[in-house]
Amino acid sequence: MSTTGKCFVVSGPSGVGKSTVLTALLNKHKDIYFSVSATTRQPRPGEIDGVHYHFIDADTFRSWISQDEFLEYAEFVGNFYGTPKKYVDQAMDEGRDVILDIEVQGATQVIAKRPETVRIFIAPPSWEELERRLTARGTDAPEKIQKRLLRAKVEFQTAHTYDYLVINDTVESAVAELEAIMTAEHCKANERIALIDTK
Ligand code: ADP
Ligand code: 5GP
Repeated sequence: MSTTGKCFVVSGPSGVGKSTVLTALLNKHKDIYFSVSATTRQPRPGEIDGVHYHFIDADTFRSWISQDEFLEYAEFVGNFYGTPKKYVDQAMDEGRDVILDIEVQGATQVIAKRPETVRIFIAPPSWEELERRLTARGTDAPEKIQKRLLRAKVEFQTAHTYDYLVINDTVESAVAELEAIMTAEHCKANERIALIDTK
């Protein structure tokens, strides 16, 4: 018995631990396809072009927009980020689940185009802990951290519009919640019933 791939959008404040939790999930489930976004921001130490992001300049980003390459795109704290459509569609056609790690404006665009997409918001256990994580990551200047925290407050106001809220207390508990959500989504009766051979 096989099921078709589903698309999961994961949003949450910068520094909440989305990349960390998703990396742990993807290490356990090699069949899940993680959508590698394009961005105009500079790579952080350790980030690899084509693995963490496609790092492109603003002109290239604009040309991808005009060629309709993006499923969605948005500006976030001074840089552009977008989801290349082609690979998402390819992976879903192969029956693989797809995860998009995107901010809330992009998530809204995806839902408008593909309402069946599952929306997951990742929240920190507390606001103090979010600030601590952003600072401890050590990748952003203090003024960028303040901008990201301000943006986080705005983003958090949209959390209730998502289908699920995962709290990233420990990485293990957050991964377990994501696994539970993905399993539940594949057990929905109205879709699954068609897969049972009753003859
Ligand atoms: P995001 O992708 O949401 O911007 P990151 O994955 O880069 O966030 O995580 C931000 C920082 O928080 C990193 O230094 C990471 O190691 C740390 N972190 C992530 N999850 C946890 C957790 N559950 N407990 C403690 N620290 C965490
Ligand atoms: P960061 O610079 O910390 O890697 O990412 C900043 C924000 O951009 C995060 O909230 C992340 O989810 C979001 N993001 C990453 N890729 C995309 C994308 O392709 N589209 C949109 N809309 N947001 C993205």
